[in-house]
Amino acid sequence: MFVVWKGKRLICVLSVLIAVQLALGGFLIARNLPAKKTNLIDFTVVIDAGHGGIDGGVVGVDGVKEASLNLAYSKELGAIFERAGFNVVYTRKNEGGLYGLPTKGFKLRDMQERKRIIEETHPNMMISIHMNKFSADTRSGPQVFYQQGERDGQSLAENLQKVFNDFTGINREAIAGDYYVCRETSCPAVIVECGFLSNPEECAALQRSDYRNRICNLIFNGIMLFLYTG
Ligand SMILES: [Zn+2]
Repeated sequence: MFVVWKGKRLICVLSVLIAVQLALGGFLIARNLPAKKTNLIDFTVVIDAGHGGIDGGVVGVDGVKEASLNLAYSKELGAIFERAGFNVVYTRKNEGGLYGLPTKGFKLRDMQERKRIIEETHPNMMISIHMNKFSADTRSGPQVFYQQGERDGQSLAENLQKVFNDFTGINREAIAGDYYVCRETSCPAVIVECGFLSNPEECAALQRSDYRNRICNLIFNGIMLFLYTG
């Protein structure tokens, strides 16, 4: 029984690795990305935990800080990518901001430092993690944003939003706009707002480890969908 189970697990793991490999090969060829080898160790994703330090982001109905949740979600998402064989680079791995001294102009310096890390990395993809807030406390569910006019960013965002919509049952569209971290990034880039901290139920759920794991796995699934279908 154990041998059978182990065999099935091995087949399952191999299938996933082959599928990911095929998807990446297709993705790199389809998008005419730099002539890197098309194996997993050459696919790099930057995970950007929004805010940090004196910039806590939005505050939840129970006082939870967006910046802390962004960090927890980024680490969880990064671990999923690493288990799948991707290279992962984080813009921040602790609660601190990226602006140096907390003096005037810190927000711009923070954003510029994120840009510097992304440029230096030359990633294949950039995912920026945030939490949302709205005046009505009933609004819920993840929302994806992309840079207006960026075709691959739009496709990535739409695939992610589709996976989220299937999960929540809410029919929401990915939103285009002008976002520094996406505009200044040459690879497919999106901002994922994982949920609304203004919604008491969702605010509580977003702080649960099982929900965090679920959302991060959905992000990973959305990226796989993008790599397969473009
Ligand atoms: Zn934010």
